This record gives sequence, structure tokens and C-alpha cells, in this order.
Amino acid sequence: MAILRFNALKETLHRTPVKIQEEERRSDLFGRNVFNKKAMRQYLTKESYDSLINVIDKGHKIDRSLADNISTGMKEWAISKGATNYTHWFQPLTGSTAEKHDAFFDTYGDGEAMERFSGSQLVQQEPDASSLPHGGIRNTFEARGYTAWDPSSPAFVWGPTLCIPTIFVSYTGEALDYKTPLLRSVSALDKAATDVVRYFDKKVNKVITTLGWEQEYFLVDSALASTRPDLMMSGRTLLGHSPAKGQQLDDHYFGSIPSRVLSYMRDLERECMLLGIPVKTRHNEVAPNQFELAPIFEEVNLAVDHNSLLMDVMDKVAERHHFKVLFHEKPFQGVNGSGKHNNWSLATDTGSNLLSPGKTPMKNMRFLTFFINTIKAFYENEEIIRATIASASNDHRLGANEAPPAVMSVFIGSQLTKVLNELEKVTDGKLSPQEKTELKLNVVGKIPEILLDNTDRNRTSPFAFTGNKFELRAVGSTANCADPMTVLNAIVAKQLIEFKTEVDGLISDKKMKKDDAIFNVLREYIKSSNKIRFEGDGYGEAWEIEAKKRGLSNYRNTPEALKAKISKKAIDLFAELNIMNEREVKARYEIEIEDYSKHIQIEGRVLGDIARNHIIPTAIKYQNVLIKNVKGLKEIYGSEFKNQAKQQMNLIETISEHIEQINEKVEQMIEERKKANALKDPTKMAFAYCDQVKPYFDDIRYHCDKLELLVDNEIWPMTKYRELLFTK
Ligand code: ADP
Ligand code: MG
Repeated sequence: MAILRFNALKETLHRTPVKIQEEERRSDLFGRNVFNKKAMRQYLTKESYDSLINVIDKGHKIDRSLADNISTGMKEWAISKGATNYTHWFQPLTGSTAEKHDAFFDTYGDGEAMERFSGSQLVQQEPDASSLPHGGIRNTFEARGYTAWDPSSPAFVWGPTLCIPTIFVSYTGEALDYKTPLLRSVSALDKAATDVVRYFDKKVNKVITTLGWEQEYFLVDSALASTRPDLMMSGRTLLGHSPAKGQQLDDHYFGSIPSRVLSYMRDLERECMLLGIPVKTRHNEVAPNQFELAPIFEEVNLAVDHNSLLMDVMDKVAERHHFKVLFHEKPFQGVNGSGKHNNWSLATDTGSNLLSPGKTPMKNMRFLTFFINTIKAFYENEEIIRATIASASNDHRLGANEAPPAVMSVFIGSQLTKVLNELEKVTDGKLSPQEKTELKLNVVGKIPEILLDNTDRNRTSPFAFTGNKFELRAVGSTANCADPMTVLNAIVAKQLIEFKTEVDGLISDKKMKKDDAIFNVLREYIKSSNKIRFEGDGYGEAWEIEAKKRGLSNYRNTPEALKAKISKKAIDLFAELNIMNEREVKARYEIEIEDYSKHIQIEGRVLGDIARNHIIPTAIKYQNVLIKNVKGLKEIYGSEFKNQAKQQMNLIETISEHIEQINEKVEQMIEERKKANALKDPTKMAFAYCDQVKPYFDDIRYHCDKLELLVDNEIWPMTKYRELLFTK
């Protein structure tokens, strides 16, 4: 193994940036491999084109002949882009994407061949995907699962394959993927938000959700990564001593991008352009070899597809550049982990961002309405939000002494805090004309000016308002954004429905004017949700104590946090809005809780193997060298040898102690794993893995890392942190 490490290191010495072609303008490349409106116009009849646009924009149904026409055009277009195969591309609950390729190629049966792709093949498929997670949904009824075309996300050609974005549902129509509930949440929020926005603007007929994600990741040389079984099997290093230098000098953050990495990024961006993923920013992140990439925001369903696709593309492009991408939230102990900030907002079909303050008091009333309702929704449902971002890997960020913390709170900045404090003082009941004028002039009217010079930025808050959008920062870097976006859409939709009911109630029962009614309801919302607002430093004990006083939850691990997923509140929320029924909600919980146990189980196995099969034998080898040395000294110096051999003998003993500890802890961990595996109830099993198995990881690691410091570097088998993190 040590040989493997040194061979890999040698390989990295000769690496040079891979040459990439970038002769064309990005704007020319953009969307070239996407079946977008331009391609549709070219490959579809005028009627089919118009009908398809109606399907996309208005949700019209697709009939057989339309489907046939579209599939034929799509096939011809795809072949012109070099595609030979097609696939229904979907996002099952495994967290990655799934595809099953079929060839366009077909035979007539008389020796002649053709390319064929029918309407029915476009619209629906039945992949044999019986081993994808379903949380029991497919056991109970029909075992079949179907993929169905989602025309709202355009088809694209990637490599030799036409990829058709689809939803994945059971025979009974229940969601087996991330996209289905997301689409349902989008329409729930559209309805609720449109109803509310019409208090301010009757021209609005549709509200869409927008998402701009920011993807953080690490790049490690692929040769080095392949020497680490822990990285390969669990996505993170399970042991490894901290290097002398980490991120303390802050010399990597926003520094110049290493040339091999830059070449990778440019290659990646070129691929993204072709696929219509509007990537815009790239930079170094805080930790060594950590980077970030962000696109221009898009409609949420498309943005989610683009993030999932991006993660696949990143892996593929990395191969060409001899990198391995680490998406894990915490691949290395002691340096920052990775997240995926989800910038979320609402936009109308008339082109307004509903979370952007405007130039008139009316626009600002609208802004405040959506702003305050979002805060209220977040407060009321903070536990469900916490649950949606929980995973074994994200546990290393949330509540593990790294921002953001496990306590959910909202940051809005001091200027908007002042505005809300003013609004909290609004008179109960009807407002006097003077008060209204005063409010409109000096509170509501002042917002745009305020925000422009609002410079306070908070880096630790899990949910921060950043000028014209909320940024959910607690999402993990491996996560599919669909789940947190579904929850955010759902809770805000529910909140807006309540808001509308209350405002309408005041107008009809109390004969209030619309503005008065809105001010009155908002005032109560500000009061009742102020506990969630926190402007200070988001991690540390002081905030945890304060948060507890405020009654906010603080779930430090996934099994605890996931409980809220199947709370009555969550089940009712999704059912009321027709986003998921109880079975769908429970199925997801079951998949995630099992996923948690599996992750810890794998990590436990890998750590046990490495400790016993790699670390202990290496330590013994080195110990034997020391023993030989001591024996030699004894031969030369006779009874005086101890003067010369003191340090060596100490080392021999220390090594034995560490070996003993490692063996003992691995043994105990295996016992605990056995007990955990015997538990029938998946929740109990997850708690056992969390509370009984996982604590051994730190113990075992501690002794292995100590040995790393003692044992001869020449024979150490595991590629070291300094090599993984600083090879460029
Ligand atoms: P930051 O300072 O956090 O980097 P940026 O303004 O660069 O802020 O935006 C970060 C992300 O937010 C980008 O992906 C961007 O597209 C996205 N974003 C900007 N406006 C919106 C919006 N209205 N809705 C959703 N996302 C948005
Ligand atoms: Mg950001």
C-alpha cells in the first residue's frame, strides 16, 4: 500500500493542465445541446410547436398525435447532435440521477434498419427500476414504477444520449422521486402567492419560484484519491492527521485559481454552456483545494435539474483532468466543509421579484407581505426545515462547530429589523390617515434606500435575507435541492393561504380597508415570529442557550432531526396542499432513516478495515524496526544499552498501546454494529448507529492519527492530508 501511495504521488508530479478548446463565444455555445425553443421551431411543425408551448406554459395535456410529432422532431434534432440513444432521465430517492439507455436504432424485420422514437416512448416508460428506493410504496400495490415526461424541463443531448427529464411515480401515482413533489409544491405556491399578489397588482396571473444554488466542492488528484479506501467508499477521509498548515492563513480563499483547476473549471463551464446550465461564478473557497461554482438563477424545477446534471458533469469532466470531485459535506477533518446555498425567491409573470423592495410604497407593501410571511412560515416550521436538510454527511456541518449551526434562525440585517420594529407598533384596528401617511412615507417608503447601503452580511445564519432573496445556507453539498425547495415552497404556500384568509376576514368582518387589514395581520406575524430572528454569530454556546430559551429546536444529528418529517404537522402540511400524501411522506422518512444507518454502517466497516488491515500492520512493521534497533544497541552496549535505546523503547511501548486501543475499539464497534443490525425498527437502528456505533469513530481515529505521527513516513500506507489537500 505504501508503494501505491508513493506511485500516486509520483504520478501527480508530472501533471500539467489539460489543454481545452475554448475558441467559441459562450453566448454562441449556450444551449446548443438543448431542445429549446429555437430547436423546437426548427424541428417541429408550427402547430406542434404552438401546442407544446401551451403544454409547457399552461399545463395542457399531450395527445397521441402531438406526442408522435414531437418525438419525431426531437429524435431528428438529437441525431443531428450526434445522439444514438435516448433515456428517460430522472432523480430517484438515491440522491443521484438515473438513466436507462435505449437505442433509436430499430429494424424492419426484413434486414433493413432505421432510427425510431415514438410518441409513447417519449411520454412514458416503465424502467425496470425495482431496486431503487421506494420506502415500501411499491410493495403494497403494484410493483411497477413509471417515468413520465416533464415538458417543463427541456430535453438535452449529453454525449451520445438524448436525455428526457421525467418524473418517476408508482403505478398508483405516488412519487418515487424528488421532482414530483417539487412540481406539486411549485403549483401550490403559485396558486397561494398569485392570490396574495393580486392585492397589489391585478395583472399578475402566475408566480414562479426561483432558485440559484451555489455548489461547493473539493478537488483531489484522482491518483491520490484512489489510494484512500475511505474516500472511495464513503466520500470522506475517516482518518488522517491534520497537516501543519491548514486554512489558518486564509491564503486560498478567493486566491488565484491553480492552473490545473482553472483548466478543469473552464472545460466544465464549456460543457455547462452546451447543456444550457448558466454557470456564472467560480472561485476558491475557504479550505485548501475547495472551490465553488454558481449559476444565474432559474425557475426552480429547471434549476434543480441543472444542479443534478451539473454534479454528473463535474464527475465526468474531472476524469479528463485527473481529478476526483468530493461533494461530501466534510471530506477532511479540521478544515471547512461544503454546502450548497439555495437562493430562493418568487417572481411574477409580469417580471417582478416579490422579495425585491420597489420604488413605490405599494411595491414595498407587497415586498413586506412576502418577506414577513416567509419569516413567519420559517418560524412555524423550523423543525421541518431542519429535517429536510438532515443527512449523515450534513451532520458534520450542522451543529458540529461549523457554520451554519443546527439551530434554525433567520437573519435579515439591522435595517430591515428596524423596519419590522416600526411595523410592530402599528395601531390595532383601523389606522388613522396620519399614521398611514407616516408609515408610507417613512417606513414602507424608505426600504429601497435602506437596502442599498445595507452592508451587514452574516455568514453563519442558516437562512439569511440577502437583499432580494432568501438564502438557505444549511443545505448540504451532496443534497438534491428539490427536497428543501419543496418544503420551503410548501410552508410559504400554507402561510400565504392563511394570510389571505385573515386579511379577507378583517376586510369583510371588521370592515377594514385592505391596507389596514394587511398592516394589522403583518403586525401580528412580526410579533409572533420574532423568536426566529437572530442577527448575531450563529454558532457557539451562547446562541444555543439563548435559542433554547426561545424554544427553538437544536437537533444535532439526523435521527433526531428526521422525526419532524413524519410529525402530524408535516403530514398535514403536505396533504392539505396536495404535495404528498401520508404514505409518500412516510416512505421518504423510511428511505432517509435507512440511508442514515447504511452510511454509518459503511463508514464503520471501512474504518475498521483500514485500522486493522492497514494501520496496525504498518505500526507493527515499524515497531519491529525499532525492536531490531534496540536489540542491536544491546549487542553493542551490553547492559548500558538502555541509555541509548530509551526513546526507541518508549516508542515501542507507545505503539503497542495505540495498537491495543485500536483493536479494542474496533472490536467493540463491531459488537455495537451487530446489535444495531439486529434491530428491526429502522428508527431504532438509526439511533443505535448514531449513539452506539458512531462514537467509536473518533476513538479509533485518534489512535490511528497518533500512529501516523510516530511511524516512518516511508512505510505509511495512507496518503496524508498534506498530500491530498496541497497537491495542485
Ligand atoms: P452572493 O453574495 O451570495 O454570492 P449573488 O448575488 O452572487 O450573492 O447571488 C448568489 C446566487 O443567488 C446566484 O446563484 C444568483 O443567481 C442567485 N440569485 C440572485 N437573485 C436571485 C433570485 N431572485 N432568486 C433566486 N436566486 C437568485
Ligand atoms: Mg451566497
